[in-house]
Amino acid sequence: MSFYIRVWQNCDLEGITKHLMIVGEVTADCANCRELGIDYAQIRNCPKCGTDFRFIASRSTGKLDRGRGATVRRIKDRRPDLTFIDYEDYKEITGKQNARDFFK
Ligand SMILES: [Zn+2]
Repeated sequence: MSFYIRVWQNCDLEGITKHLMIVGEVTADCANCRELGIDYAQIRNCPKCGTDFRFIASRSTGKLDRGRGATVRRIKDRRPDLTFIDYEDYKEITGKQNARDFFK
């Protein structure tokens, strides 16, 4: 029996955003160009901006199942090639970054 455990890693925020897709209810969107309706199980490059996806996050994880639940497993089963990042973490860091850029 295998489990998912969250690993804390030093990351380059821009490098993640350029190659990230964010899964919503059914489809995903591209964090780089905001293209919507991407079939996350199939698509390797964004149909709009062409970026290759290396990271994936889900809006449905986080507070509700703390990232341990069915959502992570379902997505990782379909996309074992992508690094799963925590959406809450990503949102928090990008929020802080945007606030800093705003006050520059
Ligand atoms: Zn894109």
